[in-house]
Amino acid sequence: MSKRDYYEVLGLGKNATKDELKKAYRKLSKQYHPDINKEADADEKFKEITEAYEVLSDDRKRTQYDQFGHADPNQGFGGGADFGGFSGFEDIFSTIFGGARRRDPNAPRQGADLQYTMTLSFEEAAFGKESTIEIPREETCETCDGSGAKKGTSAETCSHCNGTGQLSVEQNTPFGRIVNKRTCHHCNGTGKSIKHKCATCGGAGKVKKRKKINVKIPAGVDDGQQLRVPGQGEPGVNGGPPGDLYVVFHVRGHEFFERDGDDIYCEMPLTFAQAALGDEIEVPTIHGKVKLKVPAGTQTGRKFRLSGKGVPNVRGYGQGDQYVILRVLTPTSLTEKQKELLREFADISGDKPDEHEESFFDKVKRAFKGE
Ligand SMILES: [Zn+2]
Ligand SMILES: [Zn+2]
Repeated sequence: MSKRDYYEVLGLGKNATKDELKKAYRKLSKQYHPDINKEADADEKFKEITEAYEVLSDDRKRTQYDQFGHADPNQGFGGGADFGGFSGFEDIFSTIFGGARRRDPNAPRQGADLQYTMTLSFEEAAFGKESTIEIPREETCETCDGSGAKKGTSAETCSHCNGTGQLSVEQNTPFGRIVNKRTCHHCNGTGKSIKHKCATCGGAGKVKKRKKINVKIPAGVDDGQQLRVPGQGEPGVNGGPPGDLYVVFHVRGHEFFERDGDDIYCEMPLTFAQAALGDEIEVPTIHGKVKLKVPAGTQTGRKFRLSGKGVPNVRGYGQGDQYVILRVLTPTSLTEKQKELLREFADISGDKPDEHEESFFDKVKRAFKGE
């Protein structure tokens, strides 16, 4: 299957800003998250979206992608520490020249990075937690210490390619003699030949295992953010360093609170009487109940700030606030007695709204007249 263009995946143009990227990613990752979306290909789509965002949100990787597109295998998920340098160039050449400039098969290579998606509740994301995750990954076979050879024996240098992992094929062409290099099919490019294979790993030198990893989730993580756990990816090849593990967070919504960065928003209902006469109400926050003084004559939609009652900043820069938006409720099912009192209230007040509101009604009138 050929890879889709990253911009196309996120539904954006080549000139998309970082903000547009972030917005598109947030929207799509929510839409296709495997925990929410049960369509058969949601998982694939989610991975595709995450990978596209991972590359385009990183300036260096985006430049690389804009220049080379998918041809550069180094810009896959997470890049890793060996990203950059001239390795990208080498791979471009190997793509063009059919593997002619392949890397030395015996050179140490970093293991692949792994990705793990973790779903957190609203509160878990706000306060952080310690969690043990189980991930399937390849590990060096303990029986043979990764050599792939049976105990007491060792891997030998492949006699067909002399350990280079490549075979040279000479060809006469109109442009002269060309030496074409191909991956050695006797050793699959490893440069090694194993006569007596290790029974545990079948000669691969690696085994699939489920590994438990303890992950400390920092307080204040947000939806779509990721945590890099160094050295917990796949093991390296030929003594190279292991890859990294990337834990991508999906934060569930909350029925009462809404999060915007480090700030939290909520709406509180207020009766007509409370709004008119003033009251002290209790507002839930993630840090516990807080008392809020509502002044007399409060209009619907008025916003109050509860300082420091938001989410801790994930990088440790203080704490967000909670904003409370008051909604004045119009009573719906009134008793006869209530109706009577309201009629009396209306009679005393007259039909006109009070002074404060009059100016508002004036504005409305002017708007209708087109002034
Ligand atoms: Zn060989
Ligand atoms: Zn083994």
